[in-house]
Amino acid sequence: MQFETKNVHFPQKIETSETSKTKPIYQTSAFAFQDLDEMEGFYNGNKAYLYTRAGNPNTDDLGKGVADLEGAEMGVASSSGISAILAGVLAVAKAGDHIVATEDLYGGTYQLFAKELPELGIAVSFVDFTDQEKIEQVIHDKTVLLYSESITNPLLRVENIEVLVQLAKKHRLKTMIDNTFATPYFVRPHESGVDLVVHSATKYIGGHSDLSAGVLTGSGALIKKAKTKIVNLGSNLGPFDGWLACRGLKTLSLRMERQSANAEYLAKALANHEKIKKVYYPTNASERGNGAIVTIELAEHADVRQFFRQLRWIKVVPTLAGVETSVTHPVGTSHRPVPEETRQRLGVTYSMVRISVGIEAKDDIVQAFEEALD
Ligand SMILES: *Cc1c(COP(=O)(O)O)cnc(C)c1O
Repeated sequence: MQFETKNVHFPQKIETSETSKTKPIYQTSAFAFQDLDEMEGFYNGNKAYLYTRAGNPNTDDLGKGVADLEGAEMGVASSSGISAILAGVLAVAKAGDHIVATEDLYGGTYQLFAKELPELGIAVSFVDFTDQEKIEQVIHDKTVLLYSESITNPLLRVENIEVLVQLAKKHRLKTMIDNTFATPYFVRPHESGVDLVVHSATKYIGGHSDLSAGVLTGSGALIKKAKTKIVNLGSNLGPFDGWLACRGLKTLSLRMERQSANAEYLAKALANHEKIKKVYYPTNASERGNGAIVTIELAEHADVRQFFRQLRWIKVVPTLAGVETSVTHPVGTSHRPVPEETRQRLGVTYSMVRISVGIEAKDDIVQAFEEALD
């Protein structure tokens, strides 16, 4: 071989006899075959992988791992929470259909439902999900899905999943729950009969703010349909991000235990602070705890911009769920796309601060907020 050829083909043996303690990363766009017969194996079920857009071991691990924890038959990972939501919706709804969603949705989901789905011919009604009658009023013969979040954002309303499932059964609808804030450590919607559970794995599943990913779980039949959408729309997850998310997933229970304990401590410590009008922290999410997000509404005379500036080691970010405590300004970021009128009705105000509580020592967290408030 000449230099140019040797340069490309230097030996990189793929070890199948060595058993690595951790899963290797299949950082490859495609899989290689000995001959045409072996490649045919992908189509007749003897080979699992052909092309990474259609499936990759690291990506599949994430789908399976989250499905196991959610108590679902099957799971599929995708490039982001939003693409997992879209795949889930398209697994049950097509042009001409109608879905009903809670009005206190994550801003990106609102954007997808309000702007993109109607252009695909799928109509969406946004309703106050605390009022069953209002949901029933908008259901009609084209309605196929009820969509909500187990713990909403930023007001941290805990959805009554049992009631939603009953309502859906009565009208023969499917149910889909975004379980991003609660995680399966606290809430497992499938146990209450929910058909599809979706995660922005960008948040607690990954847990370290270093990747974008989504996961959808449910029955084999629904997830196969959703996976076909992910393959055909090209919203697959890359192998490295799948691998990273799996590494993060291993510490989910440790992180959630610590972060929710810290959140509860912070919520109590800030409850009667004179610079705070209201502290939002759920009490009824689960027996194990209530998640790691605390939302505060600063008092009317407080300078919101100054408060954000004074949070010494706490970063201001448009996300949540890392191991570090961070803060978000919902009106300026996650809820920017939500119409002002809806925000006002929901009570999402300019002086609202969403805190994603991390794993630090709890008194250091409290001190940082008290100093900024002072
Ligand atoms: C972040 C988030 C999403 C969207 O996830 P991406 O990974 O950013 O696409 C959906 N739902 C909730 C509740 C979120 O917090």
